[in-house]
Amino acid sequence: MNKALTHALVAGLLTALTGAPAGYAENAEVLWLGHATTRITSVNGKVIVIDPFLKKNPKTPVAYKDLKRLGQVDLILVTHGHFDHVHDLVDLAELSTATVVANFEFALQMVQLGLLDGNRVIAMNKGGTVSPLGRGIKIHMVPADHSSGVDLQWLEPVSPESKNVKAGIRWVAGGAPVGYVVELENGFKIYHSGDTNVFGDMALIHRFHAPDLALVCIGGHFTMDPKAAAYAVRELLKPRQVLPIHYGTYPLINRSPAEFEAALGDSGIEVLKRDPGDPITITIE
Ligand SMILES: [Zn+2]
Repeated sequence: MNKALTHALVAGLLTALTGAPAGYAENAEVLWLGHATTRITSVNGKVIVIDPFLKKNPKTPVAYKDLKRLGQVDLILVTHGHFDHVHDLVDLAELSTATVVANFEFALQMVQLGLLDGNRVIAMNKGGTVSPLGRGIKIHMVPADHSSGVDLQWLEPVSPESKNVKAGIRWVAGGAPVGYVVELENGFKIYHSGDTNVFGDMALIHRFHAPDLALVCIGGHFTMDPKAAAYAVRELLKPRQVLPIHYGTYPLINRSPAEFEAALGDSGIEVLKRDPGDPITITIE
């Protein structure tokens, strides 16, 4: 039997056994791209981007400042409306034809202002779960303790010359800030905190979702600092692994994973060390 035919038969058998389409990835991947921007590639190769801020993100590797480098994006999750979380949202949504999930008010504002296509937006709220990529992947929206105003002058491709800003609309309400738990096809659960202070109901995120991997902000000033983030992770969220994010992008949030690790102490929780652009591979068990 020739090699190509063997390969095709094996691929066919795998598809029959797993239900996985062509492009099946052997492992899922979490790729942090600086600040809060994260790309998750699911077990079956679906691509989810959280809080796209790449082109003007000081920490994003140069290669990823070209949005096309993200590949075919299937879903975009928005935690809140601040510029450092949605700067490239409109461009990426247009480029990729991805569905956008966001808090109810933020989503509807973007549609009403003509910035997102209402047919590709899921407006939801905390406590909700959606599966726009098929039933195998669940997106749970969870609380965050922060704010969420939207300054349109920073939202690409909106510029000071855009019709909304010219018409005098600069700040719009962005609803409530949120976090997400992304549950992959194999049951692996990734929590992304968005921007948040520590809050007691993080214990409920553990109780209801029990995340395997938590991406938590540690930069302070606008969010939890390393000490508060360590408390949140050790006492409330209790993941198996944690990746600190949202630090070092600007002088105001110049804190470090070393501070976080020291504050976490001997918790038994693995602190992953990654620079932006270094992937975390999730092995299918
Ligand atoms: Zn923010």
